[in-house]
Amino acid sequence: MGKKWGHYKAGGRSQPVTCVYCGRRTPRIKAVSVKKHSGIDTRTIPGVDRRLVFLPQMKAYACISCAKHRKLIGKKD
Ligand SMILES: [Zn+2]
Repeated sequence: MGKKWGHYKAGGRSQPVTCVYCGRRTPRIKAVSVKKHSGIDTRTIPGVDRRLVFLPQMKAYACISCAKHRKLIGKKD
């Protein structure tokens, strides 16, 4: 009882994401998530121990072609 058959939404909610490299909109399922930190390079700050600094990382997405191009993903086909 209570088992629901069918009515399975294919794809579900896949919102398009924007590639951080080329700006192209690509479906979420086809995008590759990349970690991008906020642009703070601790090496530019003198006297800061990098191990003690927490760098906030932003979640970003890259399209397949950019990900391949930048070797963010291995060959997977
Ligand atoms: Zn791209």
